[in-house]
Order: sequence, then structure tokens, then C-alpha cells
Amino acid sequence: MNTAGQTHNCKEIQEQIIELLDNELSLEERHWVLAEIDKCDECEDFYFKLKKIKNLVSDKLGKKSCGDNIMGNIRAQININPS
Ligand SMILES: [Zn+2]
Repeated sequence: MNTAGQTHNCKEIQEQIIELLDNELSLEERHWVLAEIDKCDECEDFYFKLKKIKNLVSDKLGKKSCGDNIMGNIRAQININPS
């Protein structure tokens, strides 16, 4: 068991990822979370899946007024379109 210094806790990181995508984190915290994502395939997978879902949801609901981001999301989806 490794209890020395920083341990990577996927559950904890993934909670931070949710906050990251809600823009609830400071710049410092964001850097930390992104560094952890980089180290761990599971967290990376979670991050990209959640990001994709959030983009789709915000497109459909237009709940949050994210200004420019809405156009960015639509553009990103058009670009990704696999045909
Ligand atoms: Zn992880």
C-alpha cells in the first residue's frame, strides 16, 4: 500500500473533474486536476466522456448562458461528425 505523499484517488479526482467542467475550480486547482487526468487512463476517460456529455446537454438545454462557448460546442460537434 502506498500512503506516502500524494496518492491518486480516482473517485476524488472525478469529483474534481465535475467541478472543473462546471468552472468551479481556481486556476491552480485546474492545473492539479489536469495533471492527475494525465497520469490516469480511467480519469482521462471519465473527463472526456463527461466533457462530451456536458457539451451535448448544454446544447440541448441552453440552460447556462455560456456566450461564445455555445458556438464553440456546435462547431466542435460539426468537426467531429464521423461520416
Ligand atoms: Zn484515476
